[in-house]
Amino acid sequence: MGATKRRRATAGRPHSESDAGLLELHAEAGGVLRLTLVTRDDLLARAVAALAGDGAAAPLVLAVGAWLEQAARSQTCTICDRPLAETGVGVLAVLLPERDDPTRAMVLGVCPTCCAEHGNDAGRIEAAVLAFLRRSWWPDLRLIAPPCDQAGRA
Ligand SMILES: [Zn+2]
Repeated sequence: MGATKRRRATAGRPHSESDAGLLELHAEAGGVLRLTLVTRDDLLARAVAALAGDGAAAPLVLAVGAWLEQAARSQTCTICDRPLAETGVGVLAVLLPERDDPTRAMVLGVCPTCCAEHGNDAGRIEAAVLAFLRRSWWPDLRLIAPPCDQAGRA
């Protein structure tokens, strides 16, 4: 593996999550995760829903909040590997175990430039994030259902 590939393999890696954390996420999910794209515009609506008791929104909002606390220090764009502290965030990809009351999560940021290069299309951005996840951690990852909770536009 050349230097470029090695660097790309770590693009977007959530440095705060240890490999043990990834194993815990996968174990809690029982192999079934939900991927949700979150834009700046719909994060507030999700937070309001969580406060109103939406059990599905709460873990997502908590995961995003924890990610935002450390994003400026360590996260890079999942697609191009540029520091998000420099680029800003176009969309967040939130992975939660597909089960009731999940406690583990993974949040990946995608910069506005990469969103634009994918036509600001949620489906194309999701495909790029899934490709990264397959390349980096879960080569057997596959969709088992069409996205039902994705952002309208990235
Ligand atoms: Zn990017």
